[in-house]
Amino acid sequence: MNLYMLDNQIRSCTLCALSQGRCHAVPGEGPSKAEIMLIGEAPGIEEDHTGRPFVGRAGKLLTGALEQIGLPRKKIFITSIIKCRPPANRKPKATEIRACLPYLWLQMKFISPRIVCLMGNVAAYAVLDKQGVNDLHGQIFQNRYLITFHPAAVLRNRNLMEAFISDLKKLKYNP
Ligand code: URA
Repeated sequence: MNLYMLDNQIRSCTLCALSQGRCHAVPGEGPSKAEIMLIGEAPGIEEDHTGRPFVGRAGKLLTGALEQIGLPRKKIFITSIIKCRPPANRKPKATEIRACLPYLWLQMKFISPRIVCLMGNVAAYAVLDKQGVNDLHGQIFQNRYLITFHPAAVLRNRNLMEAFISDLKKLKYNP
């Protein structure tokens, strides 16, 4: 098994009901040995249509923020906690997260990133069992996991942009 085989497995996964409504599963993209990994929540409509992560409005904001701090998106592995779009973009269910998480653990094992950025409460809770991104953002846990806002939250509240950018800067130099 390698990252490419895992990608194919995710694209044909039927472990939960989200597989029945999808156009494409979205395994994620980026270098197979990326130093930095970004993890969001779940694909949205554009991601479902293209099979690529973070290509919609939140994705454009994320790509712009990364460019602004001199971190090219193509150097980062970008994925989400669950790989298929929930209907009407509802929050992923615990059962869906449980079914999908083994894919994320395998991606982390193959890629072996130096630092992993958890964007939003769903990612922080699924990976670290921590809630409250407003209080936890900018902090690094276990020398490896940086918590920040989900880019969609920054889209909804532009006041978060400054903190989002300053959190992302930590990916360049830490730990
Ligand atoms: N939001 C996510 O969490 N992931 C995507 O791929 C797109 C939007």
